[in-house]
Amino acid sequence: MSASGSENWRPRTRAVRTGSRRSQYGEVSEAIFLTQGFVYDTAEDAEARFREAGPDEFIYARYGNPTVAMFEERIAALEGAEDAFATASGMAAVNGALVSMLRAGDHVVSSRALFGSCLYILEEVLPRCGVEVTLVDGTDLDQWRAAIRPDTRAVFFESISNPTLEVIDIAAVCEMAHEAGATVIVDNVFSTPVYSRAIELGADVVVYSATKHIDGQGRCLGGVILGSREFIRKTVEPYLKHTGGALSPFNAWVMLKGLETLDLRVRAQTEAAQSIARALEGHPKLSRVIYPHLESHPQQELARRQMEGGGTLFSVEIAGGQAEAFRALNALEIFIISNNLGDAKSIVTHPATTTHQRLPDEQKAELGITPGLVRVSIGLEDARDLLDDLRRGLDAV
Ligand SMILES: *Cc1c(COP(=O)(O)O)cnc(C)c1O
Repeated sequence: MSASGSENWRPRTRAVRTGSRRSQYGEVSEAIFLTQGFVYDTAEDAEARFREAGPDEFIYARYGNPTVAMFEERIAALEGAEDAFATASGMAAVNGALVSMLRAGDHVVSSRALFGSCLYILEEVLPRCGVEVTLVDGTDLDQWRAAIRPDTRAVFFESISNPTLEVIDIAAVCEMAHEAGATVIVDNVFSTPVYSRAIELGADVVVYSATKHIDGQGRCLGGVILGSREFIRKTVEPYLKHTGGALSPFNAWVMLKGLETLDLRVRAQTEAAQSIARALEGHPKLSRVIYPHLESHPQQELARRQMEGGGTLFSVEIAGGQAEAFRALNALEIFIISNNLGDAKSIVTHPATTTHQRLPDEQKAELGITPGLVRVSIGLEDARDLLDDLRRGLDAV
């Protein structure tokens, strides 16, 4: 077995070739090591490995596994991170990154526009453990400045928020956080590893739900935490290996193969998303089209500076409200009504009644999750068919 990799490879080469651990059979496609445990030649070997495992030595799949290690190494190379720990889901990554480093009495500042389950961790789980959490409007740098204190241990945000596609100024928030000595954890799902510059802009830790674009074909749950070797091995790994958030080797293999086509898929989906969003602007049944790289987005300049592509998602607000939005969704023939995103299949989601259903109405209003808001995830179908389908949906309103 040997790990390959080169510092000088460009991202697309890294995404296809880094991290392979070829077995004695010389396989081309990476092997799935579907095993929970590993055999030691002698009792002394077992003792030595438990004391300190070498890079090609494994103990138990909750701690690590060769297929999982290949995925970790490949995505770390792609993101430009020193190290990575793969997790059973994106939420295991968000929870693992935060809980592994926080203690009762710590203070956390987070943007308030978050995926519903991320909000649950910040509003319910952390306070229950004695961590004080301050939520801010992430687009307002003055609110970050006012909230970050000398005892702030961590800062958390989604670089592009779900589902209203607000853009957070990564470099500016990192600078303020670092002045206070806080660790910055960025949930970077909407930006995808293809457009991510989070580490270059100052983020200490990046988390992904691999369930989304990295799988990209709606098959498996997975997640990953990326950061310095010190943070991953000394803080994250001890917490996750003992609390059971490990990624399954089979799912790791799906994600590993997903990385090989990620760049092609995300760029094609982004191009289609941008052209469809642009074509829908001004549609009489829509009061708003939200896409980070459209001139109409209030943070277009920041979005372009921070991300080479605008991403594979946009949101629209259907004039009227929930009844009109449901009528449009129900009339679609190609788009499926679901709650995943980044998939090869195009998906529409009504956040107010699904992913963000549990939030009180005032909080939904504050986050811009209106009854007419529909999140659109563009897949790999022909963009012309997708635009026709959305127009068909809107005609039904
Ligand atoms: C989906 C998602 C998650 C959670 O990922 P799972 O794999 O579903 O656990 C976290 N953050 C964001 C921004 C997401 O879109």
